[in-house]
Amino acid sequence: MFLQKSFVRLYSLNALKSTSRFNWKRHKVIYGLSCGALSFSIYMAYNSLSRFNDSPNLSTDHFTKYRISYKKDIDEEHFLLELTPILTQNQNLWQIIGSTKIWSVEIKQPEIMVVRNYTPLPFYFDASAGQIQLLKDGENADGKLMFYLKQYKNGEVARWIHGLGINDTVELRGPYIEYEFPNPNHEMKRDRNILKDLEKTTHATEQKQIFKYEPLNILMFTAGTGVVPALQLLLTESPFYGTMHLFHSCKTKSELGPLSKYLDVLDKQNRIKLHMHESSKGGNIKDVNIKELLNQIPEPVPYKEMKSNGPHNNNTNPSLALVCGPDSFITTVAGEKYDFSQGPVGGLLKEKGWDNQNVYKFP
Ligand SMILES: Cc1cc2nc3c(=O)[nH]c(=O)nc-3n(C[C@H](O)[C@H](O)[C@H](O)COP(=O)(O)OP(=O)(O)OC[C@H]3O[C@@H](n4cnc5c(N)ncnc54)[C@H](O)[C@@H]3O)c2cc1C
Repeated sequence: MFLQKSFVRLYSLNALKSTSRFNWKRHKVIYGLSCGALSFSIYMAYNSLSRFNDSPNLSTDHFTKYRISYKKDIDEEHFLLELTPILTQNQNLWQIIGSTKIWSVEIKQPEIMVVRNYTPLPFYFDASAGQIQLLKDGENADGKLMFYLKQYKNGEVARWIHGLGINDTVELRGPYIEYEFPNPNHEMKRDRNILKDLEKTTHATEQKQIFKYEPLNILMFTAGTGVVPALQLLLTESPFYGTMHLFHSCKTKSELGPLSKYLDVLDKQNRIKLHMHESSKGGNIKDVNIKELLNQIPEPVPYKEMKSNGPHNNNTNPSLALVCGPDSFITTVAGEKYDFSQGPVGGLLKEKGWDNQNVYKFP
């Protein structure tokens, strides 16, 4: 029950809705007209709208303008995108949110007036090094956000974003919370030193940090860009405390570009237990030996309420399973997800004893 209560899916809007502030502004203009003080009311409306648009930080209340500051194709379908706010932002979402929540932002396609969610990663493009770098603790790169995107042949928004050029502007709204984890009070920070020297990591070197509370371990099944929420949790400031059993399905690992190195290091340092399923190598979870696959999938263990200074048994067994990918993938792993509800847990997870109490299927 505890885990079920701990998640909150707050928003997922696919069509634009006018905000109450916008309606308020229209109302003000009508009032001004009826008073005959047209120029004054236009001035007031303009003034309030400018103030509203000038708010520099990302917000769910209004769209904020960003420019494309870096775009790099990984292959024909996948690309990295860095967005830099037009007005510098001081709000550090990586520090504020940490790994207590998985979050996304909406990017607006203004020609057809639709928005799509995308999941930011804590990187910036370092022009002098010619590569993306992880933000250090306390840094927010003035509000830059990095994305890993896939464009679809018939897709509206990702294909449109891919067609934009450097310095073109896009509008963002957010952050939207996709999933919320139990948040232990006054827990110590988890460091990210292991991610400093990616190339040199050949084996586990990390000294195990002893936390005040027993960390929650999770099982995560991801496919394609569904891996981004997992990476956000693992790479953000004070990253995920527990062990993540990550089963990632993709065509080929190379489609992850520079992100694959991060997964490898996290695996070597035992922060994750990585199981790659590359369909180009016959690893599609629908094609592999089902018995062997089921043997690799851990069974759920009950999550003990967070115990401060209690004995830490160091077990890595997961208590929660998150599934993120296309509909057919979700169905294979955890049973069909309905439009507005989770649907019963089925598929591979059901075989291993998981149920609706401890499984969450992402939208
Ligand atoms: C919370 C959240 C976070 C997300 N984060 C990311 C992210 O970080 N990176 C990212 O690339 N995407 C992410 N997505 C998906 C993204 O929001 C869009 O759904 C995706 O970019 C497709 O939108 P589109 O307008 O390009 O295609 P659409 O116009 O929506 O789709 C057109 C066609 O494209 C194909 N298509 C679309 N989506 C899929 C799919 N998932 N699998 C297979 N075929 C598909 C289908 O043929 C579909 O008919 C996220 C979604 C959510 C809900």
